[in-house]
Amino acid sequence: MPGPVYLDYAATTPVDPRVVAQLLQHLTLDGDFGNPSSNTHPYGRAAAQAVEIARAQVAALLHANPREIIWTSGATEANNLALRGVMAISRSPRRHLITAKTEHKAILDVCRALERDGCAVSYLDPAPDGRIAPDRLAAALRPETALVSLMHVNNETGVVQDIAAFGEMTRQRGVLLHVDAAQSAGKLPLDLQTLPIDLLSLSAHKLYGPKGIGALYVRQSPVRVRLQPLLYGGGQEHGWRAGTLPTHQIAAMGEAFRIAGDIMAVEAAQIRALRDRLEQRLIELGGVTLNGHPEQRIAGILNLSFAGIAAEALLAATPEIAVSTGSACTSASYEPSHVLRAMGCDEWRMRGAVRFSLGRFSTNADIDLAVAAISAAVKRLRALSPRWDLDHAAG
Ligand SMILES: *Cc1c(COP(=O)(O)O)cnc(C)c1O
Repeated sequence: MPGPVYLDYAATTPVDPRVVAQLLQHLTLDGDFGNPSSNTHPYGRAAAQAVEIARAQVAALLHANPREIIWTSGATEANNLALRGVMAISRSPRRHLITAKTEHKAILDVCRALERDGCAVSYLDPAPDGRIAPDRLAAALRPETALVSLMHVNNETGVVQDIAAFGEMTRQRGVLLHVDAAQSAGKLPLDLQTLPIDLLSLSAHKLYGPKGIGALYVRQSPVRVRLQPLLYGGGQEHGWRAGTLPTHQIAAMGEAFRIAGDIMAVEAAQIRALRDRLEQRLIELGGVTLNGHPEQRIAGILNLSFAGIAAEALLAATPEIAVSTGSACTSASYEPSHVLRAMGCDEWRMRGAVRFSLGRFSTNADIDLAVAAISAAVKRLRALSPRWDLDHAAG
C-alpha cells in the first residue's frame, strides 16, 4: 500500500533523484571520496574541486560571490553562527538585537540564549496578516542596535517579508541585517547584488537536497562582515567553520541549488496553481479561514483554520494525507503555534490550524485526494460537534 499523500514539503522535501546521483559520486573509492583538505594527492584535490563547484552553484542562485558562502550543517547552525557570531564580537554598548515573534525556533531560542548572556533583544509584532511593517522596525532601532534578524518566508504561513525595505533601513543606520532564507531560497528570486543583506541562512533539505547540510552567506563587499566562529579545529572555511567538509552533502546541495535556479519560475507557477485549487476547494467547505497574507505568500504553503475542529482531530481523521498542525517542532505536545499567536489569532483559529505544503512532486491527483479526505472529515467532525457554527460566528 502506498503511503499517504505527502503535503508537508515545508518540514522537509524528498531528495531529487538528480541530487542523489550527484551525492553518490562522492562516497566510494571510484568516486571523489577524498578529504577536500588533502591537497597532496588527486583524491583530495578532486574533492576540493567538487566543493568549489557546489559553492559556486549556491552563490550563483543568490548572485553572491562564492567566497561569501560558508558551509554549515543546516540553517539552524547558520542562524546560530550569524547571531552568536556577530553578537560575540559586538562591543558594549552595541549589545541590542532586533527580531520578530514569528521567527523560527532556530532564531528565537538563540535570542533567548543571547539574552542570558547579557544582550537586549526586541521582538517585533507582526500585523494580523503576518507581515512585519517596516515602520515597526524603524521604531525599534536604537543607537545600541548591532544586528537585525528577520526571516524572508515564514515556515508556518508562507508569508513573505519585505526584506528589501528592512535592508534599506539597516544599511542607512549602519546595522547588520541577517535573513533566514531556509524557506525562500530557490523558490523566490534573491539577488544579493542589490539586496542590502549582510548574512543569510540556507538549508538544503527544504530544496530537494539532503538533511544535515546548509550554508551561511557572509557579505564580503563593500564591507566585510566580522564574525566569531562557533567551532574551532582544522581551520576549514578560512577558520569560520572548522570540521572536515562533507563532500557528498555539499555536492548534493550544489546540484539542488543549480536545479532550483534552472526551473524556479516554472515550478513556482505549477505549485501555485495546485495550491490555489486546494485552497479554493477547501474554502468552499465554509468556516475555513486563511492564516497569513492573501498575496504576500509563497506558492507552496497554505495555512488554514477549520472552525470548530481541532487540527489534531482532523489529521487523525485523514490518514490519507501527511500534513502538519502548527509547526513540526511543536506538534509533539499541544502548544498553540507561536506564529499564529503573535498574529493575534483567536483560540479556535490556533487550535484548528493545518499547514498544507506542496512541492516539486505534488500532482493534481494528490490535491483531489486531499480535498476529498478533508471534506469528508470536516463534515463528519462538524456533525459530531453542533456548536461549530456558533463558535465560528463568535470567531
Ligand atoms: C527548516 C528551517 C530551519 C532549520 O533548518 P535546518 O537545516 O533543518 O537546521 C530554520 N529556519 C527556517 C525558516 C526553516 O524553515
